[in-house]
Amino acid sequence: MKNKKMGLTSKILLGLLLGLITGIILNTLGASYFRDVILVNGLFSLGGGIFVNAIKMLVVPLVFVSIVNGAASMSDIKKLGRVGTRTLAFYLITTAIAITISILIALVVQPGIGLDMSSLIKSEPTINQAKPFIQILIDMVPTNPIASLASGEMLQIIVYALLAGIGLAAIKPKVPAVITFFEQFNELNMKIVDLIMLIAPYGVFCLIAKTFSGLGFTAMVPLLKYMFCVLFGLLVHAIFTYGGMLTIFTKLNPIQFLKKFWPTMGVAFSTSSSNATIPVSLEACEEKLGVSKSIASFTIPLGATINMDGTAIMQGAATIFISQLYGIPLSLSAILTVIFAATLASIGTAGVPGVGLVMLSMVLTSVGLPVEGIGIIIGIDRILDMCRTVVNITGDAVCTVIVAKSEGEFDQEVYYSLNK
Ligand code: ASP
Repeated sequence: MKNKKMGLTSKILLGLLLGLITGIILNTLGASYFRDVILVNGLFSLGGGIFVNAIKMLVVPLVFVSIVNGAASMSDIKKLGRVGTRTLAFYLITTAIAITISILIALVVQPGIGLDMSSLIKSEPTINQAKPFIQILIDMVPTNPIASLASGEMLQIIVYALLAGIGLAAIKPKVPAVITFFEQFNELNMKIVDLIMLIAPYGVFCLIAKTFSGLGFTAMVPLLKYMFCVLFGLLVHAIFTYGGMLTIFTKLNPIQFLKKFWPTMGVAFSTSSSNATIPVSLEACEEKLGVSKSIASFTIPLGATINMDGTAIMQGAATIFISQLYGIPLSLSAILTVIFAATLASIGTAGVPGVGLVMLSMVLTSVGLPVEGIGIIIGIDRILDMCRTVVNITGDAVCTVIVAKSEGEFDQEVYYSLNK
């Protein structure tokens, strides 16, 4: 029989599954030197840490260079305006739909009714307060772009890169060398992504094995209903909102989208970070889904920074859960406020692990619910974070395909090709 070499995609899936099995087995084994020191905090920390750092290493140069390129390549400022408006509209509308879905599910399931609060509150965790929305807007404009690049302030980097790209487009004939420089820098970034992806299956394995070996499964039991609301909301949004939008707006087969995109989802799941997934997501959109560079390089980094549908779903369910736990019912206008606040919060949520929970404090405060409620769900948030990050980045890619198709910047043959 011919020994067919396993593709990277299948290897990532294998890494994920083996990581899951290993993690759960280790979890049940109980503490030991071998498990905790040698494997979990030794080998798995090493492999997972190197992989996450390697992809994070690329995020700042990649986002900066790709947005400059994307904006510069849309020499027609009207086109940039059109793509920008459509993308923003898509991101905001889907986030509002996402949170509405989760609120409805939570209102039906009633996760917080009949729960004994004393069994949930164990210690008082410190909860960081979210920034006010006006401050988020002001802080989007960098006073020192070099400092923004150095500290990885994504919104500031995007604003500066957009201006630089628009500027370049306006003076194109005068600066061919700068334009070529950015184009070639982009090529280099994509090559580095390819190289890093060679270790992805091992990195994914280590991350998942480490996370699952440390999860407190027993702590999850009283919160199962809440977890169900979030997970069910994520599923409904992914299948109906995204699947429906792809079918209606592009007439493309959503299953094919899934076939091409799930390795990227695997990276999002194991890293819990939209930011860290940007390089892989960009590559998938351009090389597997057939989206042109000029669209993807603009919509993917932007989406990873401001579009967080999965996070909004958690926030909707969490708000209802906490309101029920504390016996503070929400009026219709309070629910509308939650939808509005969570949509805005999604813009300010950084694409790194756990931030969605911090931003939840902004949503809770908007309707006068106790921020301490976050302490109740913090213990089980990691697993939900992994799942919502998958939805966060899937929304970005779905929007990218829809906008690209509407702009004629889409290659259907690549989308349906089998070997990519
Ligand atoms: N981890 C999420 C992301 O990177 C953000 C969050 O909800 O905490 O997309």
